[in-house]
Amino acid sequence: MIVDKFGRRFRNLRVSLTAACNYACSYCVPDGKRLLKAKNELAATRLLKGVSLLQQAAGIDKVRITGGEPLVTPKFDEFLLGVTSLPLSDVSLTTNGQLLLKKKEVIQESGLKRINVSLDTLNPIRFKKIARGGDLQTVLNGIEEMLHIGLKVKINMVPLRTQNLSEVPAMLDYCLDRGIELRFIELMRMGHLLNSSSFSNDFVSMESLLDIIAANHTFARTDAPYDSTAVRFQIPDKGSFGIIANESEPFCRACTRLRLSSDGYLYGCLSNSNKHYIGDLVDLPAHLVLPKLQGVLVNSLSDKRLSFQGEVTVMKFIGG
Ligand code: SAM
Repeated sequence: MIVDKFGRRFRNLRVSLTAACNYACSYCVPDGKRLLKAKNELAATRLLKGVSLLQQAAGIDKVRITGGEPLVTPKFDEFLLGVTSLPLSDVSLTTNGQLLLKKKEVIQESGLKRINVSLDTLNPIRFKKIARGGDLQTVLNGIEEMLHIGLKVKINMVPLRTQNLSEVPAMLDYCLDRGIELRFIELMRMGHLLNSSSFSNDFVSMESLLDIIAANHTFARTDAPYDSTAVRFQIPDKGSFGIIANESEPFCRACTRLRLSSDGYLYGCLSNSNKHYIGDLVDLPAHLVLPKLQGVLVNSLSDKRLSFQGEVTVMKFIGG
């Protein structure tokens, strides 16, 4: 097992299936241009091989499928069916939800148990302004269908002071009414937001969010697993919500995350652009690949920072 001097090891792997996306969220891309796939993206079989090798070399036991938008790529079905048949303790999916209805059958076939849907607003006009792609009602229909077929659903919302902050109470009620856990993600200084006034204008802290929620609900902080990204709160008899508080309460010292990009690079830290190519390793026989991979993993682990400082890397390349 590879462990650093702070006791950190890799346990959770996020696999970005493609950098392509059918949205162009205002906080993710600056110019509203749709995101295209990266050059030399790996096929599903090679990404699956990567997951399996990382299981052996790093002790990965949880995988989250992400992107870009994972549902836009034709390799989604093969990857989902492959990864859910590996001996992992948990497989989850992060999606903007636009194509959930179209992917319902393969999701059911795979036995996937839970998904996170990114949704920043319940207002169709605001949706067009923030997501700059897709259709709100299609996402809402997709969420209802996922609940109907028995999936556990979480919703990720990025509160933005100048755009959707007034919707925090309505989003929380929408989720509580449906047994969905709402997760607020504090805006991160990634890509064009690094050193930009848009970041300071739009950033909403955990404290400000809790003040807004306290106007309508009584809640208490609950224990979260050691390496959880979210601070969790319970609203008695109603449900729970979480806040991924990169700025207000960074979880870097307990971070167990490793990211595999669609073009075959490992990233040890969201707040560090260093990347390590493993696309060529997946073709080697196991006795050769594992020692090499261990070396790459040591380097990736040493990329982990002790606090979140933001990075020029755009989220779409490495998966949120
Ligand atoms: N397309 C998928 C989706 O929408 O969930 C997966 C990729 S997306 C990059 C993953 C998550 O990152 C989304 O919830 C998105 O809102 C979030 N995200 C992207 N840029 C962000 C930023 N600068 N700060 C906070 N969250 C961000």
